[in-house]
Amino acid sequence: MTEYVKLCLMIDAHIHLDDERFDNNRGQLIAQAQEAGITQFIVPAVMYSGFEKLKKIKQQFDCIIPSYGLHPYFIKQHSLQDIDLLDNWLSANKSCAVGECGLDFFLKDLDKDIQQNYFEAQIALAKKHKLPLILHARGAVDAVFNALKQADYFQAMIHSYNGSIQQTKQLLDKGIKFSFGGTLCNPNAHKLHKLVQYIPTDAIMFETDAPDQNLYPHFKAINTPINLIKIIQNYSFIIKQNLEQTKSKSQLVTSTFFKV
Ligand SMILES: [Zn+2]
Repeated sequence: MTEYVKLCLMIDAHIHLDDERFDNNRGQLIAQAQEAGITQFIVPAVMYSGFEKLKKIKQQFDCIIPSYGLHPYFIKQHSLQDIDLLDNWLSANKSCAVGECGLDFFLKDLDKDIQQNYFEAQIALAKKHKLPLILHARGAVDAVFNALKQADYFQAMIHSYNGSIQQTKQLLDKGIKFSFGGTLCNPNAHKLHKLVQYIPTDAIMFETDAPDQNLYPHFKAINTPINLIKIIQNYSFIIKQNLEQTKSKSQLVTSTFFKV
C-alpha cells in the first residue's frame, strides 16, 4: 500500500499559486490536487514586491516550494536595486532555485538589452548561492543558452519548453532539464509531441503554469493545479509509457533537481 501511494505522487514543477487569481480559493485548489496525489508545488515568484506574499503562503501551505526571481515580463516593474534585494533575500530565505528569470523575445515591447542585464545578473546569483535556475525562454532558446554558456553555468530547467531538436540536443548535452505543460494536451501540437518523444524521461518534468496556459481547448479559462494529471496522462499516451511509471520517474527527476 505504501509503495502504491508512493508511486502515485506528483510534483508540479512550475505553478504560480501565489497569483492573486488564486487568493479566494488557494486552499481549496491545493486540497483538491493533494487528494489526487499532487503533493508539492514549485512556485516561482516573478518580482520583488511579491516575495513577501510567497513567503507567507509557504508558511501557510508547507507543500509549496518557493523560488525567487525577476521575470522578464516585468522589466518595467523591476529596478536595478532589485538584483541586490534578491541577493539579500536568497541569503535570508530558503529558495529551491533562482527564478523565474530568462528572456522573452515574443513580446516585442520588452527591451532585449534590459532583459539581458537582469538575466545575466540572476545567473550570477544562482552561481553564488549554488542554486539551479528556473528559466523562461519564449522565442529565445538560443539567447538563453548563450547566456548560460557565457557564465558556464548549466544547472537549469526551462519551463514550458519549446525548441527544435537541434537546440534540444545541445541543451541536453549540458544536462539542462525541461518542463512541459498544457500544450501537451493539444492534439494539434505535433512538433511538441515529437520533441517529448526525443527527450529522455530523465530530463523531463511536468507543470501546469497555472493560472495561465489552460488546457486545450479552454484557453480563456483559469488553469488550476488539478490539470497536472491530464498533462501527465497525455504525455504517457504520447510516449506510450505506463502512467505510474511516468509519475514516479518525473517525481524523481523533479525532486532530485530541486532537492525537495
Ligand atoms: Zn511561469
